[in-house]
Amino acid sequence: MSTTILVVEDEPAILELVAVNLRHAGFTVERAGTAEEAESAIRGVLPDLLVLDWMLPGQSGVGLAKKLRADDRTRELPIIMLTARVGEEDKVQGLEAGADDYITKPFSPRELVARVRAVLRRRAPHLADKAVEIGTLRLNPATHRVLAAGQPVELGPTEFRLLFFFMTHAERVYSRAQLLDEVWGDHVFIEERTVDVHIRRLRSALEPSGNHERVETVRGTGYRFKGA
Ligand code: CA
Repeated sequence: MSTTILVVEDEPAILELVAVNLRHAGFTVERAGTAEEAESAIRGVLPDLLVLDWMLPGQSGVGLAKKLRADDRTRELPIIMLTARVGEEDKVQGLEAGADDYITKPFSPRELVARVRAVLRRRAPHLADKAVEIGTLRLNPATHRVLAAGQPVELGPTEFRLLFFFMTHAERVYSRAQLLDEVWGDHVFIEERTVDVHIRRLRSALEPSGNHERVETVRGTGYRFKGA
């Protein structure tokens, strides 16, 4: 299955550079020169990820990101902002607008592709991976379903991503900060104790099947998911 990325950039040379490199990396690339063009493309076909320039003629990239986040259909669309701005305040503004990641120009094409892959893994694991099984637990990223001994397990989106990360990284110990990085994203401004809240929810969802015991607290360090 091909992953479609919509690139929104008004500078033709940069648009070309980004498009060519993403295509080389195996993605299907759609292009737009303005936020308005992007909106109409998205109304037609929802891409799997958006690479969005900050400074655009007409509506800005930040304006478009905010709009997309406010709409049910596009709320979950992964967005990587592209920008020449480097100020911390601007970064915060971009992330508050709902961007998943942030790349400052000039950037290397390799870095861009790596960031795109990382965001897809985090936000849309079904585009990157196959079903995983540990013991009686089976998680299918494509259908977003989790079964424990054949019975469906109801999980919120964060618990789902957390479980997916644990199942693909079993037996290793992760600190709360590492889990925030891996599951929530590199730039999130959330407190570490938020991790504990979601761990608690995950354990309680896994309790009926006994799989909650796989989520181990490692004192003074963080958490580990038992794989054996
Ligand atoms: Ca621009």
